[in-house]
Amino acid sequence: MALHKGPHEQESAPARRLAFNPFYGEANPVGGMTEAPPRHRLPDGPLPPMSAYQIVHDELMLDGNSRLNLATFVTTWMEPQAGVLMAECRDKNMIDKDEYPRTAELERRCVAMLADLWHAPDPTAAVGCSTTGSSEACMLAGMALKRRWAARNADRYPGARPNLVMGVNVQVCWEKFCNFWEVEARLVPMQGDRFHLDAASAAALCDENTIGVVAVLGSTFDGSYEPVADICAALDDLQERTSLDIPVHVDGASGAMIAPFLDEDLEWDFRLPRVSSINTSGHKYGLVYPGVGWALWRSPAELPEELVFRVNYLGGDMPTFALNFSRPGAQVVAQYYTFLRLGREGYRTVQQTSRDVARGLAERIEAMGDFRLLTRGDQLPVFAFTTAPDVTAFDVFDVSRRLRERGWLVPAYTFPADREDLSVLRVVCRNGFSADLADLLIEDLNLLLPELRRQPGPFTHDKAAATSFHH
Ligand SMILES: *Cc1c(COP(=O)(O)O)cnc(C)c1O
Repeated sequence: MALHKGPHEQESAPARRLAFNPFYGEANPVGGMTEAPPRHRLPDGPLPPMSAYQIVHDELMLDGNSRLNLATFVTTWMEPQAGVLMAECRDKNMIDKDEYPRTAELERRCVAMLADLWHAPDPTAAVGCSTTGSSEACMLAGMALKRRWAARNADRYPGARPNLVMGVNVQVCWEKFCNFWEVEARLVPMQGDRFHLDAASAAALCDENTIGVVAVLGSTFDGSYEPVADICAALDDLQERTSLDIPVHVDGASGAMIAPFLDEDLEWDFRLPRVSSINTSGHKYGLVYPGVGWALWRSPAELPEELVFRVNYLGGDMPTFALNFSRPGAQVVAQYYTFLRLGREGYRTVQQTSRDVARGLAERIEAMGDFRLLTRGDQLPVFAFTTAPDVTAFDVFDVSRRLRERGWLVPAYTFPADREDLSVLRVVCRNGFSADLADLLIEDLNLLLPELRRQPGPFTHDKAAATSFHH
């Protein structure tokens, strides 16, 4: 047997130890825990995986229960098979078209299905892409509008200030777009019982610097559809009178996945020649967990070529349009799965159920006598209501706060200009918020109302804090 000595002299780095990744195995649980990990600084050493998991898990227990969150439009329940597929794809980067060509193909099929669903005149010519959500999709659509306007007005721009016409009820992403891309936001205020954009006001605000009009299907404030066809007709009329040709973008974050199934005769989409682009949130009524949206243009003419970037794809190049570079592929796969799984009939049934729950709930809340409905859940499965005129003991903020004690998250907020006097509660009914859960909400409201009616007056002192809800 050889007689061994110390470190071999020829060894390149005798002092080097074995390669050991802190993720391997359990670190000494006692040694690792002599000092609690700091909260706002990267800890010096590793923790055993179970301890790290438990710490994070425990802190998150205090998050609300997402299924009881009636404030959000975003999907909070998918079936387990969708979860498995998403877990299988969480390591795939959507931008690596060459490495994950099948994921790229599923994205392409989703765009084709949406082009068909939204009646693109030639679905094979429509162009579109997935995004992280409607916000990114709206940025892309807004950029395309601005570029097209700039090209039409090359003699005046820079110099002229572009503007975008929309209702004051638009989602905050449009204020972001106008801020980030230096476009003037021309907002039509609410008036009386009109809580969204109307055709005449939209056309009246347009001029030679208008890059487009945004019509929302449906408004986040009350779930109502804006009159897209009327807005287009008013702009047709404007063109006849002034020769201004103003394109319309439809923000269908929610409604573009409701109307095609429940309101087939409503013309809001590419059937209207003036509609040049549409967005939706795959993660709202598209029924996928958060992280996916879609933007589509009627034809390549609506999407200026210079905005398109090219990435490598199977040796060729693949056009892309996105703000992000890397992005998870799992949500796109889950969208394709859901399209395949439900089909038109399945989507119709799911959305009809949500609308039935919303309408039923709205009616029962109206029947209580303490509230006045602004909308009835018959467009988006969403309704807004306020306290009845004779109710002085409590306000909507009290109702929101008391419901929270029972686990329900129902937001209360004040309307924008010119209806700042109006404060409402809003309920968003989604797949997974069943008629049974709606019964429980009614039971809880009935339990709370006698106490609310006995209040000496509304309890909300800090209205500004109470109304900081962002849609
Ligand atoms: C939710 C919503 C948005 C923003 O969409 P995200 O998918 O959350 O980014 C934009 N517009 C409308 C009308 C919305 O409802």
